[in-house]
Amino acid sequence: MATVVVGGQWGDEGKGKITDILAEGADLVVRYQGGANAGHTVVVAGEAFKLHLIPSGILHPNCICLMGGGTVIDPLVLHDEIEGLQARGYSCDNLRVSHTAHVVMPYHKRLEELAEQARGRGGIGTTLRGIGPAYTDKAQRMPRPVRFRDLTDAGRLRELIAAQLQQKNVIIQHQYDQPPLTTEEVFDQVWPAAEQVSGYAVDGCRLVQESVRAEKRIVFEGAQGTFLDLDCGTYPFVTSSHPVAGGACLGTGIGPTAIDEVIMVCKAYTTRVGAGVLPTEDEGDAGQLLRDRGNEYGTTTGRPRRCGWLDGVVARTAAMLNGATSIAVTKLDVLDSLATIPVCIGYEIDGVMLDTVPSWPDDFEKVKPVYEEMPGWQQSLDEVRQWSQLPAPAQAYVERIADLTGVPVSIISVGHGREQTVFIG
Ligand code: GDP
Repeated sequence: MATVVVGGQWGDEGKGKITDILAEGADLVVRYQGGANAGHTVVVAGEAFKLHLIPSGILHPNCICLMGGGTVIDPLVLHDEIEGLQARGYSCDNLRVSHTAHVVMPYHKRLEELAEQARGRGGIGTTLRGIGPAYTDKAQRMPRPVRFRDLTDAGRLRELIAAQLQQKNVIIQHQYDQPPLTTEEVFDQVWPAAEQVSGYAVDGCRLVQESVRAEKRIVFEGAQGTFLDLDCGTYPFVTSSHPVAGGACLGTGIGPTAIDEVIMVCKAYTTRVGAGVLPTEDEGDAGQLLRDRGNEYGTTTGRPRRCGWLDGVVARTAAMLNGATSIAVTKLDVLDSLATIPVCIGYEIDGVMLDTVPSWPDDFEKVKPVYEEMPGWQQSLDEVRQWSQLPAPAQAYVERIADLTGVPVSIISVGHGREQTVFIG
């Protein structure tokens, strides 16, 4: 049974909690794209775990966790994350990293920082973790970038760094007028962590394919969200990898027909970090209420997230882009205090109604959200564990999400704890 968990908005939908719950019954959890720019928070018995790289399944002792070949790995972050988990009593013996995953190197972070500084206010608003430059090198191919298995061999690593710096230093010195990096300084920054983490390298593709053949229960965990996808998202304000469900195939080696279900995680309202259009954004008191009640501050960067109402057009389009088979609605409790809740049911653009997100950025900038007001429930959902315990307006709100997307809702989350979850059907 292969299940993909994918974010249906702009990330931070609560995928970590949903993956953690599904990991309970899984043999293998696989991250398929992105790097340490992700930030999943999983709360176990009141204790919060912030995971940037390692799949959320690591908190389940019987589950193998793989970082797929489509991810990019910063060995320093990986090393810190492993040590942090070990210090809290979680062994990382079940961790595996695909040997083909590309490595985020110190020069990637330096280049990203310099580029973002040069762009000034017109920046993309990246997390400055070197993810974009690492994927750029992957697409560029030559000089051959460092991949995870290269971390097992000091001599080879030095050679690859030297070849990269020949090219990178031209940019650092001549484009940005900054001092060059030396092979030894880069090597010395990376090698201590590389020695610690390189033992996790495996043939990730084979692990996934053998697990599929053995009919194991596999959960594929996406980071970021649908509209941050390099191809399907709101370009150019996107990430440099493929968060959509199809990315699970690219990033791990499973074929599309071997995927049994796609659970799209959809927050009960909308948030976005960084620049780019957000049609249902509320920059006033209501947006602040969502931010405070939803604790909408980045796990990785601490940045306040932009907040707004549920966008049914975004959800509907995401459901199609991902081939969603069901939806997990998260953070429904954040809306508890509201008397009425606006829901965007369509866009108007130059007098014409649209029911999907326009893929051309200039058109997307022009859309005006069309709202309907839904009644709120004005009571706490904290203790709700079953559908029948949900107040009628909350049921209607969830049903509206299913109507707008044409996809059934299978999970509702009413708090960050594992137990604060309603399963439907
Ligand atoms: P992810 O990257 O998609 O996993 O999302 P984040 O981890 O950035 O954000 C989700 C945050 O919301 C985490 O702090 C979760 O513990 C929390 N969370 C998840 N589901 C719920 C929920 O149903 N209600 C509330 N209040 N918080 C939730």
